[in-house]
Amino acid sequence: MLWFETALLPHGWRDHVRLHIHGGRIARVEIGVEPGQLDERHAIGIPGLANLHSHGFQRGMAGLAETRGPVGDNFWTWREVMYRFLDRLGPDDVEAITAFAYLEMLERGFTRVGEFHYLHHDPAGAPYANAGELAWRVVGAARETGIGLTLLPVFYAHSNFGGLPPLEGQRRFINDVDGFAVIAEECHRAIATLEDANAGIAPHSLRAVTPDELQTILPLAHGGPIHIHAAEQTKEVDDCVAWSGSRPVEWLLDNALVDSRWCLVHATHVTPGETERLARSGAVAGLCPVTEANLGDGIFPAEPYLLAAGLFGIGTDSNVLIDAPGELRALEYAQRLSHRARNVVAAAEGQSTGRTLFGAALSGGAQALGQPQTGLSERASADIVSLDAGDPSLAARRGDAILDSWIFAGAGIDCVWRRGRKLVHGGRHLARQGIRERYCRIIIRLMG
Ligand code: ZN
Repeated sequence: MLWFETALLPHGWRDHVRLHIHGGRIARVEIGVEPGQLDERHAIGIPGLANLHSHGFQRGMAGLAETRGPVGDNFWTWREVMYRFLDRLGPDDVEAITAFAYLEMLERGFTRVGEFHYLHHDPAGAPYANAGELAWRVVGAARETGIGLTLLPVFYAHSNFGGLPPLEGQRRFINDVDGFAVIAEECHRAIATLEDANAGIAPHSLRAVTPDELQTILPLAHGGPIHIHAAEQTKEVDDCVAWSGSRPVEWLLDNALVDSRWCLVHATHVTPGETERLARSGAVAGLCPVTEANLGDGIFPAEPYLLAAGLFGIGTDSNVLIDAPGELRALEYAQRLSHRARNVVAAAEGQSTGRTLFGAALSGGAQALGQPQTGLSERASADIVSLDAGDPSLAARRGDAILDSWIFAGAGIDCVWRRGRKLVHGGRHLARQGIRERYCRIIIRLMG
């Protein structure tokens, strides 16, 4: 049993909270009770967040694409660096790098990850003997670190709109529909070996998938979440208009029966009309503010989207920097810089920005990863974060000021539990040393 001096429950902050945990879930919540002898005591409890969009292996190239090139650097030049990096990765490397990324996610406030898994084949572009080899490696990384996993195998067949042939650098991602079906089934076999894991499907983008292929692969989600990159780049929007006469989000809303099972990752470049329609669809906008800033993608129109009751969650995408509060901070700061205003996301006077960001990302992230029950509530998975009450940034903080100080003033995390099992203590994952050393060995070899 865990006891908190104060904890964020679904209806707000409550003091002296005891959580009874049974079978990985919160069995009972007691409020206003004194700690008992069997209670493990902590100061501040909040729910763990879902990281709805990750490419785990990209953690290994964080910081390697920050040197200016001869002409305008952008998303597309970053992608060239990424293609060269993954030329060298074998299965052991993918598993070790992904495990280190997942360890950092747990240390930084995420208790579940949606892995948008598109690295399928060997460095020559040939399928592994088990076509789902690298999916099993992602599952291995989740098992080793204890993070919750939603595996989203990616269908990727073309280099641009209209079914253009793939590029050489994309050879490790490419499948036809039949080859992909084998991988998707293998993903289901792999997640069945991991407690509390689930799977969906991810058509990579409208650049990479034709409308016919999209229709054919959707049943492979078996009722699970459907994720797609959309409108991250203005070039992508222009190419989509040239191909179809519609913008990417507009095309999806018109043609793909987008509903609450969908997550449109990025959705950065949307018109007011698309913003309104996306909000009404019940889908989640998968915002990745740190990566979107790093890649120079653009700024999502959060204010009108939230006014239209749109749902969003956050993702670490390229994993250039893994930090749940940092994603929320970057989201709000981009809005402040573009509007030249403060507290943009908080909708009403007297509302905390941190609480608004956290609450939205908690429920939107859970929906996007197919988790109906969330937060510190009965029957929800016992995925819990305790903040470091000794951090000077949290001195004398109460209620929503705790979240504001965590997100904007850099207060630290103390412990993290997943399915009721403590994985992080004193801000460090219990398996940190081994996973970190293996990661460093592999990076030194890859860079050598
Ligand atoms: Zn992505």
